Amino acid sequence: MRIDELLKGASERLTFVSDTAQLDARLLLAHVLAVSTSYFYTWPEKRVSDADLERFNLLLARRVLGEPIAYLLGHQAFWSLDIEVSPCTLIPRADTERLVEVALSVLDVNKAHRILDLGTGTGAIALALATEQPRANVIGVDLVEGAVALAKRNALRNQLGNVTFMHSSWFDALNGTEKFDLIVSNPPYIDPSDEHLSKGDVRFEPKSALVAGNHGLADIEHIINVAHGFMVSSAYLMFEHGYDQAEAIRERFNLAGFSSVESFQDLGGNDRVTIG
Ligand code: GLN
Repeated sequence: MRIDELLKGASERLTFVSDTAQLDARLLLAHVLAVSTSYFYTWPEKRVSDADLERFNLLLARRVLGEPIAYLLGHQAFWSLDIEVSPCTLIPRADTERLVEVALSVLDVNKAHRILDLGTGTGAIALALATEQPRANVIGVDLVEGAVALAKRNALRNQLGNVTFMHSSWFDALNGTEKFDLIVSNPPYIDPSDEHLSKGDVRFEPKSALVAGNHGLADIEHIINVAHGFMVSSAYLMFEHGYDQAEAIRERFNLAGFSSVESFQDLGGNDRVTIG
């Protein structure tokens, strides 16, 4: 079958599940053929081999069932990095780049900051900070062993040596003698009854990375309450959180004795990051 005909048919099948049907079809075929998508503009009449067609159709069928494109391709762009992804972690999101921007605004590139990323997942945040702060020493921790292994592969993939990853439930594996200048986290923050969980890509992502008790605030509260023991006195603690949680989180920061508590908006104009 010709490439242009194949892409047309695939896009039509995907319009029911994806807002980016044409792009998805191109990305999947480019992945199978190991070419860039510009190849399809140059060679629309080329024919796809039976073996490639079969691989493409398998991926297309999974996408039609709603599986996120990043899981099918196995990687996702985040900041300036290419991040391997797997279903044992969340897929890095553009909103989380906002957290990286706010973190960088409080760091000095000439200093050897000690930075901790709690619930690092793919390692995306830790790796973005490590690449922008070459003198910093970044540690990323995660409860899921598969995520720790994945984050380590992502450090190698992006050739970053100033970041280490370890297995830990929040601060549990850290010895309190180690104090950080910055602690960042994109923890689970969605309420278990939120209907958002039954729509789109999140259906395929691990619930343990998305859902938290107490209206989504349980993990954020826990971290705010114990973080002091792991921070130097001038340190910052910051979170990504839900669009309607900023006020509650600022209140908890204030109650725990933090100062300079401030929230920042994401690209959609929602409060998404709070720092203290
Ligand atoms: N922002 C993500 C979503 O709404 C959730 C990320 C998280 O829970 N940490 O899909």
